[in-house]
Amino acid sequence: MSYPDRPWLARYGAGRPADLTPDHGTMLDLLRASVARAPACEIIRYFDGVLTLAELDRASDALAAALLDRGFTAGDRLALYLQNNPAFVIGLLAAWKAGGIAVAINPMNKHRELTYLLADSGSTALLCLDELHADVVRAVIASGQTDVRLVITASAFDRQQRIDPRLFAHATKPVADDALDLETLLEQYAGRTPPPAAPEPDDVAVLTYTSGTTGVPKGALNTHRNLAFNAQTYRDWMALTPDDRVLGVAPLFHITGLVGHVGIALLTPCPLVLTHRFHPGVVLDAIREHRPTFTVAAITVFISLAGQPDATPEDFGSVRIAYSGGAPIAPAVRDRLRATTGLEIYNIYGLTETNSPSHAVPFGAAAPVDPASGALSIGVPVFSTVVRILGDDGAELPVGEVGEIAIRGPQVVPGYWNKPDATAESIPDGELRTGDVGFMDADGWFYLVDRKKDMINAAGYKIWPREVEDVLYAHPAVREAAVVGVPDAYRGETVKAFVSLLPGASATPAELVEYCRENMAAYKYPRTVELVDELPKTTTGKILRRELRGRT
Ligand code: AMP
Repeated sequence: MSYPDRPWLARYGAGRPADLTPDHGTMLDLLRASVARAPACEIIRYFDGVLTLAELDRASDALAAALLDRGFTAGDRLALYLQNNPAFVIGLLAAWKAGGIAVAINPMNKHRELTYLLADSGSTALLCLDELHADVVRAVIASGQTDVRLVITASAFDRQQRIDPRLFAHATKPVADDALDLETLLEQYAGRTPPPAAPEPDDVAVLTYTSGTTGVPKGALNTHRNLAFNAQTYRDWMALTPDDRVLGVAPLFHITGLVGHVGIALLTPCPLVLTHRFHPGVVLDAIREHRPTFTVAAITVFISLAGQPDATPEDFGSVRIAYSGGAPIAPAVRDRLRATTGLEIYNIYGLTETNSPSHAVPFGAAAPVDPASGALSIGVPVFSTVVRILGDDGAELPVGEVGEIAIRGPQVVPGYWNKPDATAESIPDGELRTGDVGFMDADGWFYLVDRKKDMINAAGYKIWPREVEDVLYAHPAVREAAVVGVPDAYRGETVKAFVSLLPGASATPAELVEYCRENMAAYKYPRTVELVDELPKTTTGKILRRELRGRT
């Protein structure tokens, strides 16, 4: 699968046509085929615990049966508000087996964000960790603003000794007495199987939240076909086999973790190493213990692993394939990582709406750097994917010209949950307008040079100014707020807010930073706030974000 063997790559606008026909229509078909083939595969390795494929299958059967017994019906939504642990995967499969849809929620989200996501998705059941239940979920449910009737908690805390004390700051075990305990349910329902669910390939499997090109979080409709197709894309693009082991270091609630970790492991099938959340020391120990062969993660993950004081190139010796996506890779960083860890890091590009990759550098190929911008190529379109570059008028541009990247392929979502206008705007006729600006060179390599959307990309975590501004506007002293991305040596970009105060009101920048920190996920809050008398505006009163960016 080397680059020179792929003359199609050089043809502008055309991915290799339909050269990958998914042999699995839905994620459940894919699971059943793997369970039949390799029931003893150690599909999840979590610290000193191992779950085989047969055990995972039985546990998810039991949870599905328990959900159905409690009134969960076809098409219902089960919210997964969890870190990277086995309960996430059990919940994901159980949602499908019960005929429903999983809603993947970032566990960093706080009260306000979780309330919105549960209400928007219409989730009626929720699976979370007991610590998140104690900190956030209980209050959200009590507020009565969601339809959640059933809360199930999984306990990572009980296994704290078996896991790793570095991951837990808590001194006492949180009490979730008003929720059902996952382990108790699994024992109660052991051996029970739900009536076989038979979703269609185009049925929605997961809602993953993204703000797309606008500021409102929307549930992308990730169908079974989308997920199964791109799980196969990973496997075949990278030639993964059952001898591989996946390091599951990207968050599972994000499409990269869902497809690039869970999807691959279920399909191949091969072990998936989970470490609850990203802590570089813990992950490095997991690499030493489990010797993973493949991973896909944001570039900052590799930087911080390589930066561990006791890290040696031998530690990374088992990793034969390492892809980085979600944020740009500076060529100098890639070269430094090669020198310090021996890892050859390949670029991969995609969005929540493309179920992870739409483009990737072919494994083994040397990706070129654009001499004008210094950007490393994001690769070439993956299987069956057609990419066009569009001008402002929507017309297709010729090779080398810069415009919006538009993507069509089996991995593109059909739309957003209950948001027909946003669907029509971003995915007209099934072609995704990415909001990313770039071009293709004469050899078929693609490059990103800019963004049309206001999104801030902090180490792969996406932040939309409007979400942060909404929180600032809720502060009693704030008159106006505008949020922009500013360069950051480690995160690539970080968040800065410009704020003007109401007459007679007072608040210091530090107070406003703290206020935001308390009211939103940790990756979103502004690291700096600058107080200004007036925000720059157009004659129609629209805040001039571009001018503010220029001031930083
Ligand atoms: P998300 O929906 O969270 O997956 O974010 C998608 C966005 O991440 C894209 O629209 C890009 O702006 C950015 N992105 C994804 N992959 C890359 C990459 N390899 N290089 C630069 N930016 C990327």
